[in-house]
Amino acid sequence: MRIVASLILLCAVAQPAIAQPAISVAAELPSDVCVGDFPDAIEARLAQRDRMVALAHAASTSEVGLFSVFDSLKTWTPGQTIKVAFDGGSAQMRAEIAAAAQEWTQYANLKLDFGPAGTYRDWSPADTEYAADIRISFDYGGYWSLVGSDSTDSSIVMAGEPSMNFGGYKQYRPPSWRRTVLHEFGHALGFHHEHQHPQGCEAEFRWSDDPGYTFAKDEHGQFIVDAQGRRPGIYTVLGGPPNNWPPQKVDWNLRRLQSSSSYQLHPFDRLSIMKYFFESWMFNAGTGSFCYTPIPNALLSDGDKAAARDAYPAGQAAIEVLFRERGEVLEPLKDSPLLESTVTAQRVERVLENG
Ligand SMILES: [Zn+2]
Repeated sequence: MRIVASLILLCAVAQPAIAQPAISVAAELPSDVCVGDFPDAIEARLAQRDRMVALAHAASTSEVGLFSVFDSLKTWTPGQTIKVAFDGGSAQMRAEIAAAAQEWTQYANLKLDFGPAGTYRDWSPADTEYAADIRISFDYGGYWSLVGSDSTDSSIVMAGEPSMNFGGYKQYRPPSWRRTVLHEFGHALGFHHEHQHPQGCEAEFRWSDDPGYTFAKDEHGQFIVDAQGRRPGIYTVLGGPPNNWPPQKVDWNLRRLQSSSSYQLHPFDRLSIMKYFFESWMFNAGTGSFCYTPIPNALLSDGDKAAARDAYPAGQAAIEVLFRERGEVLEPLKDSPLLESTVTAQRVERVLENG
């Protein structure tokens, strides 16, 4: 019986998967890319903002999707230098993470500035001002990153809090660390999970148990195929040990997102570094699903590179087009009560000025 691996457990502990004979449904969710695992305080602030945007959206008479508008505020300005800092970690590990992350800047017109070579920039939980735009920690559970400039939004994250985390790397860096770094920096550049793309995997997932499924568990308490060969669905498997995810958490991690400007840049791409790896049992069509890949995506796909170029173009003409489009989207927001939030107001102002 193959162990039903845990997103949380593997994210937090970052240990090599235990090889077990695979004979049944196996819920080995991605162990190296987790965004739904923020510290409670940050998650609470993100949820609060979502509620605020949802309320404003419900009250709005505009045709503009406010979630999409808000998302466009998270992107950096093309050509911008984004400062990165570390809290701990050896100089060698810092250098290797920096080198891996830099691949994005071959395609995105952005600079990632990690500070002086050899030592690199530091931040500390005692900071009262942001030491950098992206603040990397190794001390929280899991691997995660805030999306785009949320990392310096004081309504979401404090100066003494990380915006990106690689839990456990000081003790052990798994072989897949490079793809994790690319994935988390993809979030930091403003990209969301590819499987949550509007044309992504939601309709492909096998959410429910096979009809007539009777709860069956293995020696670890994990849900498995029953005596008649009927399989548990995603909610059941992830709702049981060791994840114990309530349905909302399953939805947060796997369901499609409200419309997002970053998704407008490209069609769904199953090879994206921003897509989780899902085993075939999670899909109605098994290995025939268009969301399925036999192995985890480890490199920037052609789609990732194109999305990075489109979000952060290099030529002046392309930048002007981008600013004009963003300005048009944001214009209706100018009189919105949402602008009572200073951070939002500043961002809208910045984009409109650039445009
Ligand atoms: Zn992620």
